[in-house]
Amino acid sequence: MHTILIENGTVLTAEGWTDPGYVWINGDRITAVQPGKAPPDLRAQAGELISAQHCAVLPGLVNAHTHLSQTFMRGLAGGRPLLPWLKELIWPLQGALSPEDLRLSTLLGLVENLTCGVTRVVNHHKVAPTHAHTDAVCEASLSVGLRVTLARSWTDLGTNAESPDLVTSDLRRLFAQWRDLDRLTIANGPLALWRCSASTLQRTHEIAQKNGSFTHFHVSESQDELNMSLDLTGLRPVTWLDSIEVLGPSTQVVHAVWVDEEEIGLLAQAGAPVIHCPVSNAILGSGIAPLAELLSQGVSVRLGTDGPASNDTQDMWETIKTAVNLTRARTLDATALPPPAALRLAIDKNALSPDCPADLILVNLNHPRAMPVHDVDSALVLSTHGGDVDTVIVGGQILMRNRRVLSLDVPTLLEQCRHAVKNLRQRADIVA
Ligand SMILES: [Zn+2]
Repeated sequence: MHTILIENGTVLTAEGWTDPGYVWINGDRITAVQPGKAPPDLRAQAGELISAQHCAVLPGLVNAHTHLSQTFMRGLAGGRPLLPWLKELIWPLQGALSPEDLRLSTLLGLVENLTCGVTRVVNHHKVAPTHAHTDAVCEASLSVGLRVTLARSWTDLGTNAESPDLVTSDLRRLFAQWRDLDRLTIANGPLALWRCSASTLQRTHEIAQKNGSFTHFHVSESQDELNMSLDLTGLRPVTWLDSIEVLGPSTQVVHAVWVDEEEIGLLAQAGAPVIHCPVSNAILGSGIAPLAELLSQGVSVRLGTDGPASNDTQDMWETIKTAVNLTRARTLDATALPPPAALRLAIDKNALSPDCPADLILVNLNHPRAMPVHDVDSALVLSTHGGDVDTVIVGGQILMRNRRVLSLDVPTLLEQCRHAVKNLRQRADIVA
């Protein structure tokens, strides 16, 4: 079995940071995490030796919400608010994407996530016109090596809506076609309350639960959306989800910017996780989610970048720092969301420990922006950029080492993307 020894690093263990420490990987799992220097006999046995000097060694980051179909649309927001931006630019461009465009934009988005230290991604896959489009995304997802969940988006109300039967049959097809895979899973991804009926939400949520998966849903992103919910249902969004019995531990509530105290109580009671996307919410002028209140009420929170169209990068380090900054600005409290707590909202596990899947990253702290490192959590949360990530390992497979991506030819991918975007702009009639 392939073995890797990572030595001389600052390692995040169950007891906290240890320096130096070492990590021993056997096959796809971590089998030892220890303080001190690695024993000579272990060094002699190692199939691969990685020096982590001046690096933090920690679990990989989770990007809990993005839309990789938007990778070709970064930089296009142009100061529009959420709904006009979606209707005038994003949805028409998405309608013009070919399966090959989607394959390339998925690869590009995943490579960007990988190079920023993300090992697990939830890709809220926007409604695709054909099976070939979605299958191209699934195949691309498997080729990069990250752990990807494709949350199959759908709408059954409004423009370009799908019929409820088509939505449920395609969701069943995806669960059947892409099952028992180590790196790719499927989830239910209704788009937003005002475009999804209660009955189809209930049906698709049941299918997801039967397949051991979850529902991933934009909720209360903007004030307009809250008002539409009040007009359509007479209820606030989270209250409505609770009333149709879709709120629970397997319902991921993405955004939750415009939730009130009662809704926060419902989220906590139901055990429904919230996915917080502070950079996207700020860029689109949607507001600042009440993160401190959610956490203090015991709501489980994860972080996401959101799609490249509403957050031009997939850099989770920027998202982590923004979560801290905006929470303090909102609460007028410089002690809110301290760095250790912020980091743990973004990493896949709280620490590296034996018998965990070998999903981990090395982050370089030997650069002027991080020096001096008084506190590792602060250096990571407040001073790190995606470009500081040195090495990424998923399931014992080295996907990036010394900043070089090993699972894909990046220069060729960039050239293919440049060419594809030029053609896409012409087809969608977007002028320079
Ligand atoms: Zn989104």
